[in-house]
Amino acid sequence: MTLSTHHDAIVVGLGALGAATLNQLAQRGARVLGIDQFDPPHDLGSSHGDSRITRLAVGEGDEYVPFVQRSHAIWRELEARTGMPLMTTTGGLVLAPRDRVAEHHGKSDFVRRTIACAERFGIAHEVLDAAGIRARFPQFHLQGDEIGYLEHEAGFVRPEGAIGAQLAVARSLGAQTRSGERVLAVEPVGNGDTVRVRTDKASFTADRVVVSAGAWLPGFLGEHARADWQAHFSVHRQVMHWFDTGSAAADFAPGRFPIFIWMFGDGQEDYMYGFPSSDPAQPALKVATEQYVDATTPDTIERTVDPAETAAMYRERVAGRFPQIGGRALKARACMYTVTPDRRFVIDELDGLPGVLVVSACSGHGFKHSAGLGDAIADRVLGRSSTLDLSPFARRRLLEKTPG
Ligand SMILES: Cc1cc2nc3c(=O)[nH]c(=O)nc-3n(C[C@H](O)[C@H](O)[C@H](O)COP(=O)(O)OP(=O)(O)OC[C@H]3O[C@@H](n4cnc5c(N)ncnc54)[C@H](O)[C@@H]3O)c2cc1C
Repeated sequence: MTLSTHHDAIVVGLGALGAATLNQLAQRGARVLGIDQFDPPHDLGSSHGDSRITRLAVGEGDEYVPFVQRSHAIWRELEARTGMPLMTTTGGLVLAPRDRVAEHHGKSDFVRRTIACAERFGIAHEVLDAAGIRARFPQFHLQGDEIGYLEHEAGFVRPEGAIGAQLAVARSLGAQTRSGERVLAVEPVGNGDTVRVRTDKASFTADRVVVSAGAWLPGFLGEHARADWQAHFSVHRQVMHWFDTGSAAADFAPGRFPIFIWMFGDGQEDYMYGFPSSDPAQPALKVATEQYVDATTPDTIERTVDPAETAAMYRERVAGRFPQIGGRALKARACMYTVTPDRRFVIDELDGLPGVLVVSACSGHGFKHSAGLGDAIADRVLGRSSTLDLSPFARRRLLEKTPG
């Protein structure tokens, strides 16, 4: 077994959160090593599928807003530095029936929560009724009772590009990365001031370790006899579908069509979200919904999407709402949400091993915040202060019992 040099920090898992953290640590001049079991960006975790929604007014909670704002700034800096297009501003529409308290990501009345958040933070937006939405976006076939929140700065980020760009910049600044190497154990050395990371190929030490293992985190915690931590997370298979826009391609291109979150009723799965075409060579309406009923694991998930799943998506959600779209599917991909009971992130030190910071920022809404989170996490790991507040994501809230 080779024993390498000591690092200021080691990042375990180089997906959305790990790549962002590695980049920010490298920007601060830290001696840093990143390790991934695959070769990121890859399509086996939570960060693939061409596009992720980003929006500044975060109905999931005000505490997220500074992170997505910082992410936007970082992605624009990365675009300038690498020449890679990472973020496309398309406008974003969040809509639901006006008289329902339609829930999304664990928050009821998500549209009005989003409007209130935009007002508090001074985020440019418009509130539209059905006629207003139709006038702006005739592609949506509405019931007539909808309320819509339209945010001008919303759009989509390219997850594979963002991860690739952050890893490339980190490496250019001296970060070491090891791919195709699985971390087996993270353990204290001596009095615990140093942490050892043992992989299937080697062993390394560091002052601090960040575990950003995505959907593999629950299993990882279980293997480290942290059943109490493991119990906070469940993994859920989600499916993304791309439908051919055919002769309507121009109507579903960025500039003409926004990203959208469309709630039809009160249930958390009673909705879909979607994107304008992100690839001019293969114009498509990308749509998905969410499910929180069936849990899975990265080892057992069905990664193949049955054509019947895509046919059901079209029949039940798309056909009646986007009449211009035929049912021809171009592709479909499975992906994983790592979900907490309150749908909020967990970013906290492992009790008994404070040199190890566990980072789980998913529950289906983590990508837009990932670059900003990486910025705050790097400061925390290096013991520096940050204007970004990670305290809302401390684990203790999940241990507090509700009264009565
Ligand atoms: C279908 C879908 C749609 C989504 N839509 C949105 C959206 O529109 N907007 C939004 O903001 N968010 C969205 N999200 C959420 C967002 O994509 C996730 O929050 C984010 O990708 C999570 O990144 P991660 O770094 O935690 O996980 P990942 O990117 O999966 O990274 C984890 C990494 O850890 C590595 N790893 C794990 N265990 C080990 C080990 N033992 N040794 C070495 N490496 C290891 C894995 O190989 C992997 O590369 C969506 C998620 C999905 C699945």
